[in-house]
Parts: sequence; structure tokens; C-alpha cells
Amino acid sequence: MIDCPSVRILVSNDDGIGAPGLEALAAALRRLGRVFVCAPESTRSGSSSGLTIHEPLQVQRRGAGCWSVRGNPADAVKIALRELLPSPPDLVVSGINDGLNCGVNILYSGTVAAALEGVQYGIPSFAVSRRYSGRRDFGREARLAARLVRWLYDLRPREAAAFNINFPGGPPKGILATAAEPAPYRDRYHRRRDPRGRIYYWLTGGPPRRLRVDGHATDEWAVSRGYVSVTPLRRDLTDRRLLGELERGIHELDL
Ligand code: MN
Repeated sequence: MIDCPSVRILVSNDDGIGAPGLEALAAALRRLGRVFVCAPESTRSGSSSGLTIHEPLQVQRRGAGCWSVRGNPADAVKIALRELLPSPPDLVVSGINDGLNCGVNILYSGTVAAALEGVQYGIPSFAVSRRYSGRRDFGREARLAARLVRWLYDLRPREAAAFNINFPGGPPKGILATAAEPAPYRDRYHRRRDPRGRIYYWLTGGPPRRLRVDGHATDEWAVSRGYVSVTPLRRDLTDRRLLGELERGIHELDL
């Protein structure tokens, strides 16, 4: 199915339309099908699934099948799917982000949010990130990502899934299926004083490095050991077990 010119792929990111990771990814995916690009005009890293709803959403057409939005990745994918593309794409691919999106960072990431937006519309979606290394060339990872996307797409999971793919900084040793590390970062704020004497804070900290969670390798661990990490994500946040308990017990609450 994939590999035929009729396959249509929407590409987005959170580093902005001019980011080298997006250009390399779009170029590699053109070998699989027709590529459309819709991405934020500038960097929107850490924007999660934020939407632009209190101001107009500006869209600029940059060429055939290519748009930028003055908004977040979720805005870009949503408006591409609902308004800009002539028909829904077969795949949404977001990245390549210049920095990892493992563990709890999945919740903050605009790169992952773009993929989750695609899943919300029933489209198999992929988020692709690489450990920050200062390198500007994303060719190797883009080619590998295109191979992975093709393979994962052909798996055809029962419901549309999002796959979170993270590359190490150097040449990968192999690929591991992983669970997202659930433990929080060791968050720390640097407290500094600006040239005008005002205090400001800068968030920093390190990831947890547990080997396994419930018998599965974790994404943080896989990438730290030089492996490509692939984590299947779902958008449904409801805790089904607790929901059952609530349904049984909630009647006891007298309002
Ligand atoms: Mn980013």
C-alpha cells in the first residue's frame, strides 16, 4: 500500500517550518508518497496540544502543498486536516525534533502533540525526535525514520495509533520497542539575576534512567544506550480500572 504515489503524508513539527529536521524528514518521506507540509512559522517547542483560540490563526501558503501557521503544532495539523488539504492524508509525521521526546516529556512536547492530533482524526501518526547534539544534518535519521514509518504503517494496528520514535545522537546500535518512562524528571530551577537586577528562573534537570517498567525497556534507557526507541502511544487518557470502581461507588455520594 505504502510506496505508491497515491499515499499522502502530512508533515509537521514544533521547531518551526525552517528547521533542518523537518526539511530532511519531508525529503525522505517523498520516496514513500506525496508529502504536504504544515508547520508553525517559528519554534513552538514545549507547546503540547495548545491551540490558538484567543487570536486569529494566520496561515501563509509557502508553495504547492506547503503552509506555515502563526500558531502551535496542534493548530498546524488541525487546520491542515480540516481546512487546507483537499482530502485527509494517510499518515501524519512530525519532526525531526532537535532534542529527545522521551518519558514525561511526551506530555509537554509539541512534536508529539502534532502526531496525537493526527490520531484524533483516526490517522496513523508518528513523532520523530533525535537527542540534541548540535549537529544540523538529519539525513541519516530521516532515511531511517522513513523506513520505520513504512514498516509500522504496514503493521496496521486495529485503531489509529501514534508511534513515538526517538533517535540517539550518534549512529544507532539497533531498534527497541519501549514503554515511556513514567517517572518525572529531577526538575531543578536555576535562579539568576538579569542585567536589570530582576530574578528569573530557568528550568533544568535530568531524566530518570530506569531499565525497565512492567517488564518493558524504557525509552529513556534505550536512547541513552544508543538504540532507536519506538513507543506506541494512545490518546485516550481515561483510567478504565478506576472508572469501573467509580461507576460502582459514585452513587454513595449524596448531593
Ligand atoms: Mn522542538
